Amino acid sequence: MIKNHSIDADMVRHVEQIRLEMQAAAARAGRDPRSVRLMAVTKTVPAEIVNRAIDAGVALLGENRAQELLEKYEHYAPAEIHFIGHLQTNKVRSVVDKVSMIESVDSLRLAQEINRQAGRLGRTMDILLQVNVGREASKSGFFAEELAEALQAVSGLAHVRVKGLMAIPPKCDNDKQSGKFFCIMNKIFLDIRDKKLDNICMDELSMGMSADYIPAIENGATIVRLGTALFGKRSMPGPPAE
Ligand SMILES: *Cc1c(COP(=O)(O)O)cnc(C)c1O
Repeated sequence: MIKNHSIDADMVRHVEQIRLEMQAAAARAGRDPRSVRLMAVTKTVPAEIVNRAIDAGVALLGENRAQELLEKYEHYAPAEIHFIGHLQTNKVRSVVDKVSMIESVDSLRLAQEINRQAGRLGRTMDILLQVNVGREASKSGFFAEELAEALQAVSGLAHVRVKGLMAIPPKCDNDKQSGKFFCIMNKIFLDIRDKKLDNICMDELSMGMSADYIPAIENGATIVRLGTALFGKRSMPGPPAE
C-alpha cells in the first residue's frame, strides 16, 4: 500500500483530541474556540517528530534554546516559530531571523537588544513581556507593578512591537489553584488593554502548559504551549520550565 510517510495517524488523533478539549474549555468560558492557538513546544524533541505534529496541523512551534533552534531549524517543515525560553542578549542575533515572535522578554535590556538586532535586519520583532505572576525567585519576568514602566520604555523602540503578555505560573496541584494565577494574569492583561497605550497591543496572552492548559483557556489564554501533552514525557533532561 502506498502511504504518505509524513502523516502519523496517532499524532493526528492525538492533536484532534487536544483540540476538542481546547474547544470545550473555550466554549465553557464563552469564548470563540478560534481565539486560542495550540503551540508545540519542541525542546529535546527531534525535528523529525516535531514535523509529525506540523503535518497533523500544528502550525506554531515554541523554542526554548537558541542553540537547539539553530540545530533543528532547517529540518523543520514550514511552521511559525516563537521563542519562549530565557534568552541571553548575546544570542538575540542568532534567533531574530528565525522566529516571528519572542514571547519571553524579561528585561528592558533584552528588549533593547532585540530592537537593535531587528533594526539591523530592517524588520520589526513582535514580542510579549514575560510576567513572573507567582513572584518566584527561580523564574524570570517582570513583576506586575513593573509592567507600566517597562511598557512605557519598550513602546519607544522602533523595531519592537509589544503584542501581549506571557507567563509561567507556579506549579499547582489542581486546576482551581492554577486558575487563580491565570485569572490574575487575565486581569493584568485586560487592565493594560483598556489603557490603549500608544504602540502597545494586547492581543496575545500566552499561558498554560500540558498540566494546566484547560484552566488557562478558561481564563483568557490565546496561546497554550504544549510539550509533554503532544510528544510524551521528555526522556532527556530538558531545561528548567522556562
Ligand atoms: C517546556 C515548556 C513548556 C511546555 O511544557 P509541558 O509541561 O511539557 O507542556 C511551555 N512553556 C515553556 C516556556 C516551556 O519551557
